[in-house]
Amino acid sequence: MPRAAGAVSPPIVQSSTFAADSAQEFTERALERRGSGFYTRYGNPNHAQVASVLADLEGAETAMVFASGMATITTAVLALVRSGDHVVAQQRHYGGVPSLLLNLLPKFGVHCTQVDQTDTEAFAAAMRPETRLVLVESPSNPLLDITDLRAVSALARDAGALTIADNTFATPVNSRPLAFGADLVWHSATKYLGGHSDLSAGVLAGPADVLDRVWDTAIITGAVLGPVDAWLLLRGLRTLPLRVRQHNSNGLALAHAMRAHPAVAAVHYPGLPDHPAHGVAAAQMDGYGGVVSVELAGGYDAADRFIDGLRLARRAASLGSVETLVVHPATMWQAILRPDQLGDAAMSPGLVRVSAGIEDTDDLVDDVIRSLDALPG
Ligand SMILES: *Cc1c(COP(=O)(O)O)cnc(C)c1O
Repeated sequence: MPRAAGAVSPPIVQSSTFAADSAQEFTERALERRGSGFYTRYGNPNHAQVASVLADLEGAETAMVFASGMATITTAVLALVRSGDHVVAQQRHYGGVPSLLLNLLPKFGVHCTQVDQTDTEAFAAAMRPETRLVLVESPSNPLLDITDLRAVSALARDAGALTIADNTFATPVNSRPLAFGADLVWHSATKYLGGHSDLSAGVLAGPADVLDRVWDTAIITGAVLGPVDAWLLLRGLRTLPLRVRQHNSNGLALAHAMRAHPAVAAVHYPGLPDHPAHGVAAAQMDGYGGVVSVELAGGYDAADRFIDGLRLARRAASLGSVETLVVHPATMWQAILRPDQLGDAAMSPGLVRVSAGIEDTDDLVDDVIRSLDALPG
């Protein structure tokens, strides 16, 4: 992208439209998929710049950016299915994904089977001749369940279905699903990729022929990322490996410290050697991220008090940012999902999801332990 003389930082191309010098050039630009010189809903230079970095990070041929993570998966799924098709997904996903699969897709004659993601055989058993997509998310929100990406991608491929992996929790620093056979990878770039709680964005990365089909739908759904947010996302990516290294250290330290505390009934973190899928996680991850879910022995009230007692961490939705954010899923998700859509353990009243930021590890552990110590015994 051209820069002003001497400018180290790239420009923000805050333009909704781009002039062509001739009718022929105008037409060529209008027809160019994922171009960046026609109209910003069709693509902007800031989109192209950040998408090329994201494609490299995921080892993908190409990538596209969207206005949010949900815009990304909704557009991708709508682009890749038709009436009569079937989708296989996990029982545990980020809450918006089951809403898409169970509330929206049936209106278009597309049906979904959800399976226990820790059981590869369950994916195999759910496949039908009309299965087009297999949606995976590992580690999953909020319980950090692990999917065997290599095994599930292979069985989807054998059945002629595309595997779409939500890599939000792992980030490409910790895991690259395309290397394990997934066809497409997507993120809520609102989380670790942006990393500073100051933007909403999504990304889809994969082969150009599949992204061409998604682009044709994306210009209809129109969930376009603003040029400033694309630029901010690129700024976030410059420190992604540094931040993820600290998130990984803080996540692991919190998992160990909380597990040793008497107020804690269970800790869910794939980096703990006794996590049920630690072996699979270790084979497909280079680090385990900043999100740790903890079940407090004292249930709902203990979870609430624990969050109130924290000084460094804030009670806020979202994750993957430089500051530590904590949520109590029992209070948050009952507003979003129908009761029958709630996974049992994910709604355990004492469950707290801690998204460790990049603060000093000792400060963070001290804060959490002090708040646990203050709970009634
Ligand atoms: C937040 C999140 C999403 C949704 O992304 P938005 O940017 O909020 O639309 C999808 N998947 C996971 C794992 C998430 O944490």
